[in-house]
Amino acid sequence: MPALTRRTLLAATAVAGVAASADPAAAAAPLADKQAPAIYRYKIGAYQLTALYDGIWYRPITDKFIRNAPFADVEHALDVAFMPHDKLATPFTALVVNIGSKLVLIDTGTGGQISPAAGELRDNLVAAGIDPHAVDQIVISHFHPDHINGIKDKDNNLIFPNAEIMVPAPEWAFWMDDANLNAAPADLKPTFLNQRRIFTDIAKQVTHYQPGKEVAPGIVTLPAPGHTPGHTVFAIHSGDQSLLVLSDTAQHPAVFARHPNWEAAFDVDGPEAVATRKKIFDRAAADRMLITGYHFPFPACGHLIKTATGYEHVPIEWQTNL
Ligand SMILES: [Zn+2]
Repeated sequence: MPALTRRTLLAATAVAGVAASADPAAAAAPLADKQAPAIYRYKIGAYQLTALYDGIWYRPITDKFIRNAPFADVEHALDVAFMPHDKLATPFTALVVNIGSKLVLIDTGTGGQISPAAGELRDNLVAAGIDPHAVDQIVISHFHPDHINGIKDKDNNLIFPNAEIMVPAPEWAFWMDDANLNAAPADLKPTFLNQRRIFTDIAKQVTHYQPGKEVAPGIVTLPAPGHTPGHTVFAIHSGDQSLLVLSDTAQHPAVFARHPNWEAAFDVDGPEAVATRKKIFDRAAADRMLITGYHFPFPACGHLIKTATGYEHVPIEWQTNL
């Protein structure tokens, strides 16, 4: 028997293909024109969580993407993870927490305003049997557009009209300050203007929370600055179970969990983002905590192992029973 190589495998497949097409009994099946809904339910104590996939953005990157590593090292990490060199896979997964007395949505997806391959959150919400009108509370981790744009649709209408919107107070203080807008580099100004588009006309409906406080029973906010000044993570507790919601402490784990010292160009304070990442990941790994990351591959939930050089994400096994 010849050794199994890509070439012998392709040759064998070609032969099998000829044989199959010569079989007159093989019936043609129609091709699907849509992906399956992407929702995943799991439990933390008495709480039911629903991970909702919004889609993916292949974010263009340059040799300036990581501020403190040679781009050759970054290219090597991307190769190891089967990723292209010129774009970063950036999936989006938001989380609905049913705490019994209400529905809490943590971050809101892109609202279909960032990538043609994202904006599926609303369809997936419907597929999960959740009416957007039934969402009582939205808790925002930070003010980057992929986390807040899903508050409104393209025409500026609220997608979750009955929800109280809660935002980190230090995040509001930084981004909504016009002096910071005026002092910002040109490539960051659209981020400031987008925040004004989302928040200015609904400012009275927005509640500011201090990271460290509980925002709903069993949902504790924890300050995690660096990625942005008010960037916040969440610990969800019910019964004797808990989940750590990492927000953007690390973006794709194949890059940033494996290389926790890397400072991304999109981090407002690179060294602070690294310190926060290592502190939170060390705790999650040591305590063997269940974690979810907004930019981790769907369903974005699993554990972190500490390795000699960083951390490795171990996805959960898909459970068919709740
Ligand atoms: Zn993000």
